[in-house]
Amino acid sequence: MNLNQNYLTQLHQSLDNEIENLRDDAESNQVPIVDKLTLDLLKQLIRMNNAKEILEIGTAIGYSSMQFASISDGIKVTTIERNENMIMNAKVHFQEFNYQHQIRLIEADALEAYDQVNDREYDMIFIDAAKAQSRKFFELYTPLLKKGGLVVTDNVLYHGFVSNIDIVRSRNVKQMVKKVQQYNQWLMKQSHFTTNFINMDDGIAISIKGE
Ligand code: SAH
Ligand code: MG
Repeated sequence: MNLNQNYLTQLHQSLDNEIENLRDDAESNQVPIVDKLTLDLLKQLIRMNNAKEILEIGTAIGYSSMQFASISDGIKVTTIERNENMIMNAKVHFQEFNYQHQIRLIEADALEAYDQVNDREYDMIFIDAAKAQSRKFFELYTPLLKKGGLVVTDNVLYHGFVSNIDIVRSRNVKQMVKKVQQYNQWLMKQSHFTTNFINMDDGIAISIKGE
């Protein structure tokens, strides 16, 4: 973490809630939950857009979905997860922190869950699952997004590799990073969306759905 990030993370500590206690455990178990400053930006976007219905692709242990729901009782989160172990953990957390009524957990592969979530329109979609599949998730789920709604894609700069792919040794990681590069370029070209990229933490793209 650089010094400015460090400084702001500490400055924001007064905003930390009980859900934040899950971060240490997640990090020691290598569960890639959303970074702290990115989360604060996401929460601010939710407030600014008055987003009430949120669709999340990639629940993991339920950290980000509970953080979104914690903004206000009126917020409903639909979140999709395929990994059984994660599902188990998320369920425990939703009970423990009492978010069962605001969060709907869909236990499925997000490429096959459309029929389980298309009962409503969404104000925001948070894409945070398998990085090589972001485009498929975007194409599948943005028809459910309201006009003026947001798609936020996490990890678009993936560990600094996206801008510096030459340092990547592993073939698999290289393949994935190439996919992220392709996704970012494709995203910029979507004429029904206006996208900007934020160079913070692991990088996010914010796309606004137009007319
Ligand atoms: N949004 C969470 C972190 C998600 S980590 C947070 O910030 O707290 C990414 C998760 O996506 C992992 O738990 C992984 O199992 C899940 N995932 C990856 N590909 C998926 C897919 N195709 N369908 C459903 N879940 C998927
Ligand atoms: Mg992420």
